[in-house]
Amino acid sequence: MGQITLKQVTKSFGNVEVIPSLDLEIGDGEFTVFVGPSGCGKSTLLRLIAGLEDISSGQILIDGQDATSVPPAKRGLAMVFQSYALYPHMSVRKNIAFPLRMAKLHKAEQDRRVEQAAAVLNLTDYLDRRPGQLSGGQRQRVAIGRAIVREPSAFLFDEPLSNLDAALRVGMRLEISELHERLKTTMIYVTHDQVEAMTMADKIVVLRAGNIEQVGSPLELYKNPRNQFVAGFIGSPK
Ligand code: ADP
Ligand code: MG
Repeated sequence: MGQITLKQVTKSFGNVEVIPSLDLEIGDGEFTVFVGPSGCGKSTLLRLIAGLEDISSGQILIDGQDATSVPPAKRGLAMVFQSYALYPHMSVRKNIAFPLRMAKLHKAEQDRRVEQAAAVLNLTDYLDRRPGQLSGGQRQRVAIGRAIVREPSAFLFDEPLSNLDAALRVGMRLEISELHERLKTTMIYVTHDQVEAMTMADKIVVLRAGNIEQVGSPLELYKNPRNQFVAGFIGSPK
């Protein structure tokens, strides 16, 4: 579970073509990073996969099934937003349980999943606090917890660390990598930060103006960038 395939996916907003035509295969359990300059279509691509935005043409398959017209809540994917998307008036427990309450899951099952996620994320002692009483890193963990409880087949991260300071970012980067090791769930991670891409990815997708410039492991891209753009972006010596 967690295999995602894009076939000739296009996206236009009005008459502006943001994704001209894109083919991509994301394997089950893979940590894939979409990297590219601001405005190249990273968020749009993630939102298309999540179903938060409709594709203009093409096809999206999840685990081999056509998901193109499946609504977001039924795709089995969880989007991790930046920590400021938390509800300030709700406890950590309620924030994490929020998607489960919406899905009307049994209270006992909600509690079980929240406690399990809290244990994984070292938040057990903070469940009764409000987001405002937490550090930036803890708040980001709550945002991740809210995704974990849904037990998704893939996690979609859109620049989740961009509003954290540099030191905290390094720590959270390691925590997310560790989480991937532990859960072995497919993760798609969007960033414009080359260091994040190089250190976290199994596979990097380099985007430029809605096109894929190159796909490969960090080492492959570093050793064998296909062109000057990739070389420049990855910081390799070509
Ligand atoms: P990135 O995440 O790589 O910075 P985005 O996916 O946010 O890039 O945006 C890609 C392009 O699509 C940009 O030119 C942006 O202005 C445009 N765009 C994104 N969302 C919309 C929208 N809802 N309506 C119109 N244009 C949009
Ligand atoms: Mg973006």
